[in-house]
Amino acid sequence: MRDYDYDLITIGAGSGGVRASRLAGGWGKRVAVVEKSRVGGTCVMRGCVPKKLLIYGAHYAEEFEDARGYGWTVAGVELDWGALIEAKNRELDRLEGVYGGILRRNHVALIDGKGVLEDAHTVDVAGERFTAEKILIACGGWPALPNIPGIECAITSNEALELPDLPEHVVIVGGGYIAVEFAGIFRAAGARVTQVIRGAELLRGFDEDVRTFLGTQIEKRGIILRRNTMVRALAKTNDGISVALGEDGETLRADVVMYATGRAPNTHGIGLAEAGVELALNGAVIVDEWNRSSVPNIFAVGDCTDRVNLTPVAIAEGHAFAETNFNSNPRRVSYENIPSAVFSQPPVSVVGLTETQAMLRGPIDVYISRFRPMRHTISGRDESTMMKLVVCADTGRVLGCHMVGADAPEIIQGLAVALQCGATKAQFDATIGIHPTAAEEFVTMREKRPAE
Ligand code: NDP
Repeated sequence: MRDYDYDLITIGAGSGGVRASRLAGGWGKRVAVVEKSRVGGTCVMRGCVPKKLLIYGAHYAEEFEDARGYGWTVAGVELDWGALIEAKNRELDRLEGVYGGILRRNHVALIDGKGVLEDAHTVDVAGERFTAEKILIACGGWPALPNIPGIECAITSNEALELPDLPEHVVIVGGGYIAVEFAGIFRAAGARVTQVIRGAELLRGFDEDVRTFLGTQIEKRGIILRRNTMVRALAKTNDGISVALGEDGETLRADVVMYATGRAPNTHGIGLAEAGVELALNGAVIVDEWNRSSVPNIFAVGDCTDRVNLTPVAIAEGHAFAETNFNSNPRRVSYENIPSAVFSQPPVSVVGLTETQAMLRGPIDVYISRFRPMRHTISGRDESTMMKLVVCADTGRVLGCHMVGADAPEIIQGLAVALQCGATKAQFDATIGIHPTAAEEFVTMREKRPAE
């Protein structure tokens, strides 16, 4: 057997790569992580964490507005956007230190630079070669932009998190997770926001009731939703960016144009194809259920495999990879009942099947409730909450829970445990509610609505 420098080299110090590496290091394996940017990866440095911090920051706008209905005099309140960005950056610096510390404490070497495979066991980092018995690709994804004239005028979520000043008018292109989250941040912070979506509704893939309900709610918050609209071209002008829409010559003037039209695996230029690793058309590393690529000693986890592109899934995959390969404990990730959230304003959270998905499997019952949350009876805000249960008509098993409304992600996380346990509608009904909450609605839904 060849003598390698390491048992494992991981390319990418994001959520999946760090979890796998620190476990293997903690079990006494010789591990190195190669990272060309900051330890923490997309989630911690350019995604979930900074985004959520900006959402917390922007959310105060709603609190101040709603406070008036409760008798507060709210005057002279304004957001210093630059101060928010600085505070967020300080927290990211702290987290980078925390992640570096986790690697150090588990004896994982951090190699700074871009790792390129020379062969199935050798990684080149700026001319220096390192060898390993196993290699884990955990290099994540990167924003994908369409090739239209002037696209270089647009920013992505990467730059949106760093804007030094709050733009007066932001045009956001796309209707997915990232687009709706940033539309909510900019709107709450006080910008004018136009969101351009090529389809009729936001959030393709989500339950249809969620999609239509969210669209109505964000419009009430003042986001201008341009449905069934394509951007033809962008151009820099003296006073911002001109955004040419559709075919009829309409243009918008924007200070910032942000594209959130999907992300692509970040796998180009790192020697994967050359080392014999099979890639999908979009560059995703093709792996089996054990995270193994077409080259037996090369594995991949997280967004670069384009399976379910969520941080906790990447962490679960990294964990399973480490257990299987370095702890004699074969483990696979279950992709059933993965809860998720979109931190729009109001937020969305779901677990399990949509109505359409469930109908394809057999007869279902649907329970849906739309109501004005108690808080807004006095705040005066014209906003409603929606909750929906999709239930198997034969077994009574709850197949899907969907919510749009305040605290939806906090509520659905708990219900995800119930779905994981195979809970039935009768068991939901036998659960005593916590009163007065919005969440109790999930255990008191009585009216069936025919599946549509
Ligand atoms: P998504 O794939 O979620 O959405 C892409 C959006 O862009 C869709 O609305 C799509 O429209 C639209 N689109 C695609 N191509 C074009 C085009 N050429 N012109 C106009 N519109 C276009 O991507 P995101 O970038 O929002 O997010 C990427 C991934 O990151 C997600 O898959 C998600 O898993 C993850 N993520 C998760 C978060 C969370 O869990 N809270 C937060 C942020 C990201 P159409 O629907 O018509 O195809």
